[in-house]
Amino acid sequence: MRPGLGRRLKQQAIEIAFPRAAGSEGNERARRIVRDRLVEAGLRVEEQSFSYDLKRAFRAIRWTLRGAAVAVGFSAALAANRPGVASLALVAGILGGAVLLCWAPGAEKLYAADGPTSTANVIGRRPASGRRRKTLVVLAHYDSKSQNLTFPWRMGATILAIVGTGGLALCLLFRMLPVEIELPALVGQVGGALAGIALVMLSTLRNENRSPGGIDNAGSVALLLELARELPDSIPPDIELLLLSPSAEEDHMVGAMRWLSRNLATERAGGAEIVAINLDGAGSPGRAVAMQWFGFGQRFGPTIIRAAREASTALSIPMRRIWLPPAVGVDAIPFVHRGIECVTFSSGSLGRETMAVHSAKDVANNLCERSLENVYRLVHETARRLTT
Ligand SMILES: [Zn+2]
Repeated sequence: MRPGLGRRLKQQAIEIAFPRAAGSEGNERARRIVRDRLVEAGLRVEEQSFSYDLKRAFRAIRWTLRGAAVAVGFSAALAANRPGVASLALVAGILGGAVLLCWAPGAEKLYAADGPTSTANVIGRRPASGRRRKTLVVLAHYDSKSQNLTFPWRMGATILAIVGTGGLALCLLFRMLPVEIELPALVGQVGGALAGIALVMLSTLRNENRSPGGIDNAGSVALLLELARELPDSIPPDIELLLLSPSAEEDHMVGAMRWLSRNLATERAGGAEIVAINLDGAGSPGRAVAMQWFGFGQRFGPTIIRAAREASTALSIPMRRIWLPPAVGVDAIPFVHRGIECVTFSSGSLGRETMAVHSAKDVANNLCERSLENVYRLVHETARRLTT
């Protein structure tokens, strides 16, 4: 007997849940599995290799964080006696940090050059028959990574940097405004010092290859492969269907950027609209999730969100809509930067399984069959609604 959908999705995820950072031997092995499954699904499959160098981007991030740490520390030291100079230093530090928080389209230039890391995107295509009415891209990155700082440390340091800087800013503000309230100078000094330490800690962040990437992103790849088998029969024939598994998402979304810069003009020729559905973190235990906003109030894809909400109601699968905080990346962002609606579907909340992401503990066993199944059904129905 064929196992149930949730069980089958989890089994498929287990097959690729081993360390597979871009450029590694595991990465090649995972790529071959994804390619073979897409071929078996009857799609026209292509691999597009590329190389890149992350050093420039890492250097830029490291020095921006250290610069911000120095500015905030300097401001804290001067807060009691020279509030004017301290405020200027703080503003400089905040502006420096803010540059890092936004994935500005211009920042993509940092990754444009070839380099020592080689990997490939895998694409399965069901061509439209006759005139192409619309293109639907469904994507899920197959690479994984671990980091020297685990999720709780990264999140803790980020919160400490924000709260500490906020405390210092309030102190300075009260000092300079003609109001009676005054916060003890110590609040600003301690806040600034803690923020500085947190920023220095964040500047030591490194990518490694110890994560089997269960939640991030084997579960989603399993969904992609199941959709590759299922969608060609359930969406109209005049829809061009692309099942894309980018690599190097964990390296600042380089794979998605490369796929877009190499293929977008061709896919756009003929004028058919393109919509994209991204899968990332699906199968983390808990409610289905759709990412609605990112950065500072930017929207991922209002049309897709509308279809997803209708699908959620029709199927009685509860769905939470969330905001992706600044400085967190997903493959949907380079799509949106090019004017293509792209919504990321995921599941779960800040539980143990999500905390294990980007560490050796992100094993396939953390995946929940029911959550996998719910996200699958939600995405399938959303795709159907977007293309009929
Ligand atoms: Zn991911």
